[in-house]
Amino acid sequence: MYQILSRVAMDLRYTEQEQTFRAELRAWLADVLPSVAPEPHRDDWKNRRVWDTGWQRMLFDAGYAGINWPKEYGGRGATPTEHLIFLEETERMRAPYVGMNFVGLLHAGPTLVAEASTEQKAHHLPSILKGDHVWCQGFSEPNAGSDLASLQCRAIRDGDDYVITGQKIWTSFAHIADYCEMLVRTDTEVPKHRGITWLILPMDAKGMDIRPLRTMEGSTEFCEVFFDEVRVPVANRVGDENDGWRVAMVTLSFERGTAFVSEMLQSMELVRDLADLAKKVTRNGSAAWDDTGLRRDIAHLSGELDALWSLTKRNISEAQRTGFVGVGGNVFKLAYSELRQRLGELSLRLLDRASLSLDDVHELPTGKHVHGRIHALSIGIAAGTSQVQRNIVAERTLGLPKDR
Ligand SMILES: Cc1cc2nc3c(=O)[nH]c(=O)nc-3n(C[C@H](O)[C@H](O)[C@H](O)COP(=O)(O)OP(=O)(O)OC[C@H]3O[C@@H](n4cnc5c(N)ncnc54)[C@H](O)[C@@H]3O)c2cc1C
Repeated sequence: MYQILSRVAMDLRYTEQEQTFRAELRAWLADVLPSVAPEPHRDDWKNRRVWDTGWQRMLFDAGYAGINWPKEYGGRGATPTEHLIFLEETERMRAPYVGMNFVGLLHAGPTLVAEASTEQKAHHLPSILKGDHVWCQGFSEPNAGSDLASLQCRAIRDGDDYVITGQKIWTSFAHIADYCEMLVRTDTEVPKHRGITWLILPMDAKGMDIRPLRTMEGSTEFCEVFFDEVRVPVANRVGDENDGWRVAMVTLSFERGTAFVSEMLQSMELVRDLADLAKKVTRNGSAAWDDTGLRRDIAHLSGELDALWSLTKRNISEAQRTGFVGVGGNVFKLAYSELRQRLGELSLRLLDRASLSLDDVHELPTGKHVHGRIHALSIGIAAGTSQVQRNIVAERTLGLPKDR
């Protein structure tokens, strides 16, 4: 597989223009970050919204909002490599990331750029870029996750409205969001991919019941959303009726190798922190770091992360030349998810009984490694499970028979 990937020529050097971009960004971050307040507690939703959207406004005012969005829609029009530099520098300087508006900035916004009407773009894009509106994604349902096209949440046309009845689940930040990018079933008589429509749902529409779910970490960012004859104007449809599957897939073409970059940079830091922790934790009278097996495992993970960083650059190099990241994106997602599981397991091994607490123990920074372990579980599920990634790599790269 790596042989197939390496056949694509790549250029991993930064141009002078890219280096200037990096230097300017670095200087701006150094200037503004000291004025950013500390991050609120993860379940303090009111202040988290202020914090996330406040940072977005700062990016907007400085010309860094919508880094890879086209200039004509208010973005910066950065190349994939500049986008990578942006993620690298913001992560390195510990700047806030997209936060609770990841759907608006990374998913719904780019979809609107590509597919929405002029009125829809004018209404929604500036408010996403300025941090005025937060979006969520209403795709998954109790019986439609990996097999998303099986979704059943029904929308029936009634004059100038669609009337929606059904349920969504795992809707991140539904209880905070102003709008939802939503997939609904508008035709039950045709093959499942052909009866889906993409709608802009205002989250204050009547007939909705939004119920936060508590995760195993104890946080409440996920919701179930129930719809009882919720009316959404036909004018809120993006694309044609029953063409929603294609519209949803368009978004993926915007993700040109940079999804999970921020995540991966955090993992690199987590590995470094784990090495530091190993020097402070004692086992049988000596530092855990004295254990050569543990040191080898930490070094192995660190080396693999470096390899994945090279794969990321290779994917971005391909995206810059061709406009698409190709199957390298799936290989990356799969390899990264598996690595995160092993990093999580190694953390637990080092923490021993301290891994039973989500809080720091013995005044050591143990809590973040326990949170990291739990978070790792979700990485292998979000944005396509590892099994689904394996199917894609098997079919599209290795030419194996299709999954039935
Ligand atoms: C952190 C996080 C955030 C999320 N945010 C959102 C959101 O904002 N909005 C939203 O709509 N959804 C969201 N989701 C939901 C996510 O898209 C789904 O969880 C995901 O698509 C998997 O669907 P499922 O949970 O129904 O699992 P299923 O699809 O039921 O899968 C169950 C198991 O079966 C395996 N499996 C399924 N099909 C196959 C196959 N063909 N071959 C082999 N194995 C298979 C899967 O790999 C998995 O192990 C989020 C999920 C996570 C973890």
